Amino acid sequence: MVNVFRLGSIYQGRLNKGDELVSSLTDFLKSNNIKAGLINGIGALTSAKLGFYNSIEKKYEDIELNEGLEIVSLSGNVTLKGGEIFPHIHVVLSRADFSTLGGHLFAPSKIFAFEFEIFEFVGETFKRAYDEDTGLFLLSK
Ligand code: ZN
Repeated sequence: MVNVFRLGSIYQGRLNKGDELVSSLTDFLKSNNIKAGLINGIGALTSAKLGFYNSIEKKYEDIELNEGLEIVSLSGNVTLKGGEIFPHIHVVLSRADFSTLGGHLFAPSKIFAFEFEIFEFVGETFKRAYDEDTGLFLLSK
């Protein structure tokens, strides 16, 4: 299943220290009416909540980390879920000992510093729908 888009605006910016990353990014997307796109980011967090999707039990297992973490890589996409603008975000984070961990990024994840680029896609937006096989809300038309 593929949609073909044209590239719209490209946004580059930063979010504020102390703000929650997922909700701040969602607010930014909504205030700019970005319904489809690609998200890229780097920076650092003071806490994070990560998810791992257990494909056997079809549910997320999560951990909350309360420590300084480098955002080595953040990538995500923007679609509509339940009619709302929805960012799906994954991260690789590094710890003070330079080990890394990663997964699906949930709120609350607190920003220390965050710089991002958002590539807006113009065209027919994907709407997420529940998928029986995976138990996930996947891209759907
Ligand atoms: Zn995910």
